[in-house]
Amino acid sequence: MTVSTYARARAVAGTVPDPEIPVLTIEDLGILRDVAVDDRGRVHVQITPTYSGCPAMDAIRADVVEALEREGYAAVTVELVLSPAWTTDWMSEEGKRKLEEYGIAPPSPLPAGGPVPLSLSLRCPQCGSPDTRELSRFGSTACKSLWVCNVCREPFDHFKSI
Ligand SMILES: [Zn+2]
Repeated sequence: MTVSTYARARAVAGTVPDPEIPVLTIEDLGILRDVAVDDRGRVHVQITPTYSGCPAMDAIRADVVEALEREGYAAVTVELVLSPAWTTDWMSEEGKRKLEEYGIAPPSPLPAGGPVPLSLSLRCPQCGSPDTRELSRFGSTACKSLWVCNVCREPFDHFKSI
């Protein structure tokens, strides 16, 4: 198998949009970890969920298989890799920018050596105010929590990173 076959498979897998935030691809989000093509043309894709137990992973898995099969790849397997855990460092700058434009607060970087305190406040993606509060642990999907800004009163989704 040539390098270009690998690069093409990786590019195809990388165009798969996130089912919840269709402006972002799984490449932008850093969900796509690795793509391998063996000498018989079988494709093995590794993805890491942004939030463990995220139900969107099943949809992503199916979409990756479909995208590769459409490009002529057969025997596509998708493996969920849970360790090391996904971090916001894996998101591309482009991905963070698109997420903000879409009106979702990008996940905050995890402080070194500990879980994120729940009192952590998020910056409002509409007006930029840090005066926000969590309304619900679960927003429009299980991967997001619902927040509201105390200044402009706009609700917004926060992408859970843990
Ligand atoms: Zn606001």
